[in-house]
Amino acid sequence: MTDFTITRSHFLLPPGVVYLDGNSLGPPTVSTAGALARRVEEEWGRQLIQSWNTAGWMTQPRQLGDRIGPLIGAPPGSVVVGDTLSIKVFQALAATLDLNPRRRVILSDTGNFPSDLYIAQNLVRMLDRGHSLRLVSPEAVLASIDEEVAVVLLTEVDYRSARRHDMKAITRRAHEAGALTVWDLAHSTGAIPVNVLDAEADFAAGCTYKYLNAGPGAPAFVYVSEKHLGRIRPALSGWLGHEAPFSFDLDYRAGPGIDRMVVATPSVLAMPALQAALSVWDGVSIDDVRAASIALSELFISEVERRCPELVLASPRTPAERGSHVSFRHDEGGAVMQALIARGVIGDFRAPNMMRFGITPLYIGEREIRAAVDVVEDVLTRRLWTAPAYQRKAFVT
Ligand SMILES: *Cc1c(COP(=O)(O)O)cnc(C)c1O
Repeated sequence: MTDFTITRSHFLLPPGVVYLDGNSLGPPTVSTAGALARRVEEEWGRQLIQSWNTAGWMTQPRQLGDRIGPLIGAPPGSVVVGDTLSIKVFQALAATLDLNPRRRVILSDTGNFPSDLYIAQNLVRMLDRGHSLRLVSPEAVLASIDEEVAVVLLTEVDYRSARRHDMKAITRRAHEAGALTVWDLAHSTGAIPVNVLDAEADFAAGCTYKYLNAGPGAPAFVYVSEKHLGRIRPALSGWLGHEAPFSFDLDYRAGPGIDRMVVATPSVLAMPALQAALSVWDGVSIDDVRAASIALSELFISEVERRCPELVLASPRTPAERGSHVSFRHDEGGAVMQALIARGVIGDFRAPNMMRFGITPLYIGEREIRAAVDVVEDVLTRRLWTAPAYQRKAFVT
């Protein structure tokens, strides 16, 4: 059994704050700052460039990839860390179009995160080989997978509503139709159990700054199924994805296995924060996290619905169909959220009317959920959100 009093003690959170935005940016761990300082002072500062070898800087993207692997059911050697999620989606998507050269359709849905869609749109334009991006509603995905589809590109858990796709069923249908899959796990990794092997996912990618708590701008990760690893030609063929980077050949030769998904110099200064954040998961079962997340989400939903009838649930009512955040609609959701944040209940807002609350059992328990609902009720019944200060939109919501 996971001990959530221990996991909570690993996080640094300001007193008096109920942090319900771990679905967007997880909090730092207690050991994050020290780990970063050691990297700068002891490694970079003392051993300077030698640290690439002596401090294992170059191998860390693979090492941390293998640490993320178990959280998504991926075997060692199939995950590597680096770049950003959008870049990893680009690489994975480009690889699938290469692997499925006779097909021309990228199938995605209107619930997908815009960056994934923008990346797909521009890839189509760059390739200039008659590809197209076909967008359907989330409910229509399964029925829209036909013999034209090269790849199904989806985010498993919807960033707005938390609606969850059936990764296994969609992947099975895609394979039956001769298509490949790219799964964006931004709102899945560290939030819900994922098993890329069991689902037979071809490619998957995710970020580490949401439920993995590695900090703003932390590097992303990409998973490639063993079935494709030796065959893909990476679209971003940087020197560190080369078979022998330090031979400085004039021609690109893809590196072995997952190494070829590395593009270039890793963000070495960001890695200690990721390493520190991943160590929180030692002794933690993602099944326990999921069970606690469902219990807390159910409590939050039932209390909000009972006490705040103005809020309309925007997430699926059935726990199995949700990720690990809960969204409610309110016409003035942006102002309401600002009033909540001013009172220490931090969630976020997605236009046009969606208020999101991330449920992260590693550091949120029943006490925090009940305290948050008290504040939500107070802000709504006393219409505290109507204050002029809350009517302005911030650049980042
Ligand atoms: C957060 C998120 C991203 C962000 O991509 P970055 O490249 O890290 O900025 C991408 N996809 C989804 C589904 C997300 O939720």
